[in-house]
Amino acid sequence: MIVDRSLVEMLFQEAEKGNYAIPHFNHSDFWDMSAIVEAAKETKTPVFIACLPKVIDAIGIEKLGAVAKITMEQSDVPIIYHLDHCHSVETCLAAVDYGYRSVMIDAADLPLEENIAAVKRVVDYAHARNVHVEAEIGKIKSAGEEGYTPVETLAGLEDAKTLVEETGVDALAVSIGSEHGFYQHTPKLDYDLLEKIHSHIQVPLVLHGGSGIPEESVRRAISGGIRKVNVGTHIRHTYITSVGEAIQDMGPMTHTADIMAYAKKNVKQVLKDWIRICANK
Ligand SMILES: [Zn+2]
Repeated sequence: MIVDRSLVEMLFQEAEKGNYAIPHFNHSDFWDMSAIVEAAKETKTPVFIACLPKVIDAIGIEKLGAVAKITMEQSDVPIIYHLDHCHSVETCLAAVDYGYRSVMIDAADLPLEENIAAVKRVVDYAHARNVHVEAEIGKIKSAGEEGYTPVETLAGLEDAKTLVEETGVDALAVSIGSEHGFYQHTPKLDYDLLEKIHSHIQVPLVLHGGSGIPEESVRRAISGGIRKVNVGTHIRHTYITSVGEAIQDMGPMTHTADIMAYAKKNVKQVLKDWIRICANK
């Protein structure tokens, strides 16, 4: 299937109508990428396969783009290869050139005007090449022990509106109290803020830091307007602990493919749980 910006927009429109979210799964290599593809195909669910700049540094943008292109084209179910949390405009533009169908420019740490300028550069380049763009407003921090997300790092409604209007960005990650990584406390999401942003902004809203948010909170966020749920830590944790277990059980002389088959089975189970939650039925 050829994935372009209009297809992604259509998928988000369907999600808005159906009050569900599209799952976004971070991958680290080819093994977990194939687990995500199989989970999408087996459940007939469109998904984002996301890649952090760290993975680009480790594997190479050209190789990742080539594999993603074949993966997307061969799939009957829409699979959108996405660059996640990229702080560099140049890397976003390179990802567009190498076949990524969606990119996230993360300039939320910068003052609003600079965030807007960075997003605009990516939007101008990506839209001319039919690629979808996500930006971030507010600061989504990493999970720590310091307690709930402070109010000043939450997304501001006016800032969100300005960013969307001035850039024409396609999707917006909103800081509403979720965090990256496993939580040290039960996350407290600001549903009022979410609903306010959802009622004023037309573009799909994205929940980052899905791992560890209780199912009922994720569902409530989806009902409040979240249209993409990002999951990374839960997948990586399952993958790595499963590889460890498999080596322990089968011994280090076992072929990598057999170790990975075990890990993939466990990762797929986690992915399918998230697919079920995102469907919000
Ligand atoms: Zn994130």
